[in-house]
Amino acid sequence: MSTQLPSSFTELPDSGGHFGPYGGSFVPEILSQPLNELTAAYEEAKKDESFQKELFDLLKDFVGRPTPLYFAKRMTEFLGGPKIYMKREDLCHTGAHKINNSLGQVLLARRMGKTRIIAETGAGQHGVATATVAAMFGLDCVVYMGEVDMERQALNVYRMRRLGAKVVGVTSGQKTLKDAISEAMRDWVSNIHNTHYIIGSALGAHPYPMMVRDFQSVIGREARAQILEKEGRLPDHLVACVGGGSNAIGLFFPFLDDASVQMTGVEAGGLGSGLGEHAARFNGGMLGILQGTKTYVLQDDEGQISLTHSVSAGLDYAAVGPEHAWLKDLGRVKYTEIKDQEAVDALGNLSKWEGILPALESAHAVAYAIRLAKEMDKDQIMIVNCSGRGDKDVQELAAWEKRQLEASGQ
Ligand SMILES: *Cc1c(COP(=O)(O)O)cnc(C)c1O
Repeated sequence: MSTQLPSSFTELPDSGGHFGPYGGSFVPEILSQPLNELTAAYEEAKKDESFQKELFDLLKDFVGRPTPLYFAKRMTEFLGGPKIYMKREDLCHTGAHKINNSLGQVLLARRMGKTRIIAETGAGQHGVATATVAAMFGLDCVVYMGEVDMERQALNVYRMRRLGAKVVGVTSGQKTLKDAISEAMRDWVSNIHNTHYIIGSALGAHPYPMMVRDFQSVIGREARAQILEKEGRLPDHLVACVGGGSNAIGLFFPFLDDASVQMTGVEAGGLGSGLGEHAARFNGGMLGILQGTKTYVLQDDEGQISLTHSVSAGLDYAAVGPEHAWLKDLGRVKYTEIKDQEAVDALGNLSKWEGILPALESAHAVAYAIRLAKEMDKDQIMIVNCSGRGDKDVQELAAWEKRQLEASGQ
């Protein structure tokens, strides 16, 4: 695609929420007004110092920011390539980066006078983060979750309920994230007067992709300051996994205008490259509209949204955030994929090398970092986003091991 590079990568989206040909707002008429109000409220809050201060203070005292930028010494030595640093989002309260966004949005909801919070969740991390901040402010909270995901993430379902949220199992479609988003949208349409819908990734209609990116950009802003302090220079390569794309854009965004910094987003390659076997939207996805935004979508020839698969629930979605679609077309960020088995192996390796048990989602980034390290020089620097911790995945991992043993006839 011949596209002229913009003078800055950080000026988008435009006022309609477009990232080049992607993004925008494709919603039923009834949602146009509420989305415009949300955009206006967000634009105002963004400029309001008291809002920013409240957010900053809670990120510090409640979430535990700044998260460390950790030098992975044994991993670096073992691979013999670049210096590898890990941005430790797994150390955020509740165990993943999701809370950076949930907290920002709950503050916004309060500012708008909303008393009820709803959310969708895949892996359950966004649901837990949202239930947590809703509890902190004493707000009602309902979380929609596909029944398949409820089964593979039972621990998080339990946590949400303990935190006072109502978890509603979704039985339509594939019973995963896409179906949970549809249910949450339906709820929002009926309850807009008192309800704010906290979307958990850089997805959905404008202003969500922009707003979620801005709230997650604290990751990249911290990482930038931290690497300058530790190494006195910018990193050569950033690596992050891409579900909807919020942890990745959060890390990448503050570096986008630094031409020397390369970036790779890692999608879920699942079990294979056939439609339905993976969630790698950039490998087989086509331009489409899903749940309010125009982007790369995995679909069949008739435009039916295809089934997806990943060992990690948090990467298992048919569409990618619209800003990533644009960054891919511009060539500013490269995208690749890692299959289930390689991610599970990387999870084991990082745990043993560094004493860090990453989330299965994050393990996709770690797996690619292991590959990439072999192509980089010793005097280079790589930062890997460790988007979350793997405690939630132990059941899924145990089941994976069991299936493997059975398959090998032992
Ligand atoms: C949800 C989740 C992801 C994927 O979501 P993004 O919006 O792409 O960041 C990645 N890692 C963890 C730990 C998650 O919980």
